[in-house]
Amino acid sequence: MTAANDLFSIRMRSSACENGASKHLSGAERIVHENMLPRAALSLLDRGLHHAKGNADTLHLTVEREKPENILHLNALAVQTVKTNTSQEGLEQIRLFLEETGVGNHADEIVKLFTETPTMRGAILLDVHTMQRLEPDLERGVRASRMDADDSIPESAVNKDHFAEALVLATKVAHCPGIIGEICMSDDPDYVTGYVASMTTGYRRITTLKEMGSEKGGRIFLYGGDPKKASEAIDWLQNHPVIVHNIRRPDHVAPEKPLDPLQSLKKALEDLKDANLYRTMKTFTEAQGPHTTADGKHCVLVSSNSYLDLTAHPAVRKACSEALEQYGFGSGGSRLTTGNTEIHERLEQAIAKFKGTESAILFNTGYAANLSTIQAIMRLGGTIFSDECNHASIIDGCRLAGSRCIVYRHNDMNDLRCKIREEKPRRGMVISDAVFSMDGDILNLPEFLAICKEYGLFSMIDEAHSTGTIGVSGHGITEYFNCDLPDILIGTLSKAVGSEGGFVAGSRILTEYLRHSARSFVFSTALSPVSAAAALAGLTCIEAEPERVRALHSNIRAFTRFLQEEGLNIHSETPIIPIPVGSESLALELSETLYDAGFIIPAIRYPTVPRGKAILRAALMCSHQQEDLCRMARIIGTFFRNHALSA
Ligand SMILES: *Cc1c(COP(=O)(O)O)cnc(C)c1O
Repeated sequence: MTAANDLFSIRMRSSACENGASKHLSGAERIVHENMLPRAALSLLDRGLHHAKGNADTLHLTVEREKPENILHLNALAVQTVKTNTSQEGLEQIRLFLEETGVGNHADEIVKLFTETPTMRGAILLDVHTMQRLEPDLERGVRASRMDADDSIPESAVNKDHFAEALVLATKVAHCPGIIGEICMSDDPDYVTGYVASMTTGYRRITTLKEMGSEKGGRIFLYGGDPKKASEAIDWLQNHPVIVHNIRRPDHVAPEKPLDPLQSLKKALEDLKDANLYRTMKTFTEAQGPHTTADGKHCVLVSSNSYLDLTAHPAVRKACSEALEQYGFGSGGSRLTTGNTEIHERLEQAIAKFKGTESAILFNTGYAANLSTIQAIMRLGGTIFSDECNHASIIDGCRLAGSRCIVYRHNDMNDLRCKIREEKPRRGMVISDAVFSMDGDILNLPEFLAICKEYGLFSMIDEAHSTGTIGVSGHGITEYFNCDLPDILIGTLSKAVGSEGGFVAGSRILTEYLRHSARSFVFSTALSPVSAAAALAGLTCIEAEPERVRALHSNIRAFTRFLQEEGLNIHSETPIIPIPVGSESLALELSETLYDAGFIIPAIRYPTVPRGKAILRAALMCSHQQEDLCRMARIIGTFFRNHALSA
């Protein structure tokens, strides 16, 4: 036999950590050909991760090569179903089976053992002559493993199918030397059907053996052989590879009823509420200015990304009306088909000019720009290095690309360098936010670029929060450091620029490549010409009214000083000023206290930031009044003192 015909047995065990102890959650087995191995491994991992009993903390996957000549091929036991309506009726069937198997004299003892032994990972191996338990480890029990159905069981073999799996196991156990029968009920709370099985009776399903929702479960192997040979039987159960053939679902065994899909969503929502992670939305009835109206209440808005207060600027409104007049609203197609207007093209040129690059290409959102760019670039192979605090759209882009992705410590250029040296990639990219969206700190761009250059990697930065906010005239991070451009510069038109849409700026080759390969550029309808007109007007305003950026910088200095005067050690050079609270519930409380005082500044919680690291994220505008900022800093200072918090 050649190795190509070899099979692999693959076993998954998952457990959760509970009060320092490891608790078994689930286990499953397959024996598959090499080509099916990756798929089988994924499906077992997926299954082990989430179980009705909880989420796994540890997963063990064991893969072993099986020589075909060692495999025992068995025919599945014949299947019969006995319908029972209550657990009592079910247990009566167990007694009947024990009679048939010749151990009726011990029926009471066995049923007691079956129903009252705490659920264990494996089975009890019971000597039916002496009623002694023969398993060496009474807590773990004895397990049967290294078995699977042959290919006659269809697709369901990959998915969880209680019936097929139980029949495979029962068939193996029934053939074990010395074992005269098996009784079993699953510990899965959603599964009340159990079975009894032996070579003589076949596999007998008992439709109700316990109450729905009960986590009780149990399995007893009835051992009638020589007690001295029990260890051989255990070894056979665990290690002898078995493939079971002719598994057919009898007509009377209905496919398992799928769980109610909405029920799972409802539970997920309830879990969010329990963890103080449930989100609500405020409804705005006025533009995003420093003063606005939300939920009918007039407020100071200190959390908008509209840093330069351009969303309702007269020049922006005028440009929008004109575009609306000329084109109407919708663009009618993707840029490559019918959606490309003269405004889109002018906007791309304006972005390139603003960023000092050769070229730029528009996307519908910054999110789409990141997703599609990372995917398109990495399609040609290589490794991604990504800052641990990068924005979700970068993380999602890395996932979508499917490339190897190495996460380095936040803004830690030494760590980045070490990880590149370890990996020695021949091709790849390093990605970072320019201004980090939650921490408000600034990437060490000069060193970042030097490292990318040294190792021949694409440098990609996301200027969502640096465009219009840093650099003397708001041109972003390269102006701030007065340094070179990265290879790939991502940005959004939805923040300081005051409109919507995303972009990539860089060389002409880059944008040309993306025009052909970025899937959201090719397959999504172009931005409305009205949005493009607003963005174009916004960029023009940033250049034409440099006092906006100056006022923003002055507000940043003032607000951080007010916070410092309140005893908070908070510094920022960007309009993003995180107030670290920690606990989700306290963050919500501070947010509500501020809202009562007329400030809108929502609590930012998991998944945007890690659990237990909730913050209030203040975002300043150029047009905030410093009296308002001072009043807000006082409220925050008082709250920190009252709750003994420190920053
Ligand atoms: C907001 C943001 C984006 C997404 O931009 P949208 O235009 O809102 O989709 C991307 N990256 C970062 C760093 C962001 O903060």
